[in-house]
Amino acid sequence: MANFKRFNRSRLTSSPKEATTSRIMRSNKSKNTKLELLFRKALWKNDIKGYRLHWKKAPGSPDIAFPKRKLAIFINGCFWHRCPRCNLSLPKSNTAFWKDKFHRNQERDKRNIQLLNDMKWNVIVVWECMIKSNIEDSVASVREALS
Ligand SMILES: [Zn+2]
Repeated sequence: MANFKRFNRSRLTSSPKEATTSRIMRSNKSKNTKLELLFRKALWKNDIKGYRLHWKKAPGSPDIAFPKRKLAIFINGCFWHRCPRCNLSLPKSNTAFWKDKFHRNQERDKRNIQLLNDMKWNVIVVWECMIKSNIEDSVASVREALS
């Protein structure tokens, strides 16, 4: 992450188009993103509580973790984690960099899910577009996993 931020400051803010990209990056890299807060609010409304946030003891520090229930939830931005539904095109500038970056993100995601599965955890990936289009469905899948 640190490397990436350095790259961001030094290179990606040189044109308006790239400034937009770096804004997206910033908003996706920080914890407690709007997306996460939105989803947590929905969980709260559905009386789903007692989770840990960004739990470092589990692989990948799941955004939301229910350690006793062995349930991990990752809230993934479609741009960063390459949502299969949105299938977003690669940025036009620094394409090779992005391709590599996204590849590493995806590999990391896969690895973390595999590690969690090995530890008998359930993993739910909630995509940004799902939260925006049908947050109730995502909440329902969490409720189901906890039932
Ligand atoms: Zn998506």
